[in-house]
Amino acid sequence: MKGYAMLKIGEVGWVEKDIPQCGPLDAICKPLAIAICTSDVHTVWEGAVGERHNMILGHECCAEVVEVGSLVKDFKPGDRVLVPAITPDWNSLEAQAGYAMHSGGMLAGWKFSNFKDGVFSEFFHVNDADGNLALLPPSINVVDACMLSDMVPTGFHGAELADIQFGDEVLVIGIGPVGLMSVAGANMRGASRIIAVGTRPNCVAAAKGYGATEFVSYKDGSIEDQVLEMTNGKGVDKVIIAGGTVETFESAVKSLKPGGKIGSVNYLGSGTYVNIPRVEWGVGMGHKMINGGLMPGGRLRMEKLGALVASGRLDVSPLSTHVFEGWDYVPEALQLMKDKPADLIKPVVKFAD
Ligand code: NAD
Ligand code: ZN
Repeated sequence: MKGYAMLKIGEVGWVEKDIPQCGPLDAICKPLAIAICTSDVHTVWEGAVGERHNMILGHECCAEVVEVGSLVKDFKPGDRVLVPAITPDWNSLEAQAGYAMHSGGMLAGWKFSNFKDGVFSEFFHVNDADGNLALLPPSINVVDACMLSDMVPTGFHGAELADIQFGDEVLVIGIGPVGLMSVAGANMRGASRIIAVGTRPNCVAAAKGYGATEFVSYKDGSIEDQVLEMTNGKGVDKVIIAGGTVETFESAVKSLKPGGKIGSVNYLGSGTYVNIPRVEWGVGMGHKMINGGLMPGGRLRMEKLGALVASGRLDVSPLSTHVFEGWDYVPEALQLMKDKPADLIKPVVKFAD
């Protein structure tokens, strides 16, 4: 089979590999569509997971099952499935403790294009198929289905980590695709006001559609000064971080009321420390909680989030701004994500309808 791979840090290309072996609990799938993620760019060009050789990229797709192991109960060849980016080992102690995404070690539930080949390949391997795959609802098209691998669960997890409650005033920092889904998640959880940090016109338009009520530009001065001015000096109840750097935490803490919560799903690619401002953190006693997490994977979450899209409660179609058809377009789609033209939210490549 062929796959599109990270040859080494900074280099990508096609590779030929054997079709992966299917263990008793596993499935072998072929993608119906794939989506490119900023994480693919971080992996190749920023060495985010360290050096890798000829590792097939990608962790966002929907797929058709082609083979299942002898102990798989609920899936069979021919099933069309949602595939989460994070595929934990559900019998691990970490999963039993409620942190399946860290099964096998910190962040180790992230297997595709990290510890094993990813999904930009004619065939790919899924561990614990019954625990991780979900049937693709027939009403969801293959392009939208790709948004359920990572963008929806990660953005919504930001809203969970920030513990959004009815009536909360919420700040969402970063409105790329993840931040847009955090806006949507905060809105569904009952936020009364959602201030979004971002300026790209089609992200702003999409954020409005998902429920953002006001906008701030991090290029127009500090986020916290603008947010404090908009909230009569009081700050917001909750902050979701879906973009920025280690420095963004300082803005988040300063923008938050005492007792507020920060949910971060952002990847921190550089810097040694996250700076927490002493005074605005209540000299250590401000009850400002900071929580950062990798998206939870797994079948139950895929089924529930899939149901939100299938029911029409969540429209993910504004995210897929660039849709290609056929394997030949995978390099172009990845390059597009690297170049990030202003009108890009997500590139998707489809292989079926
Ligand atoms: P993205 O790059 O498309 O979006 C990030 C946005 O943040 C951009 O619009 C950018 O303009 C904005 N931004 C940059 N600097 C900023 C600053 N200082 N203040 C405010 N906004 C700023 O990325 P994305 O695909 O939306 O993903 C967002 C983050 O989530 C990335 O770091 C990604 O690696 C991470 N991620 C985490 C998980 C997880 O499981 N926790 C999963 C997927 C992605
Ligand atoms: Zn992703």
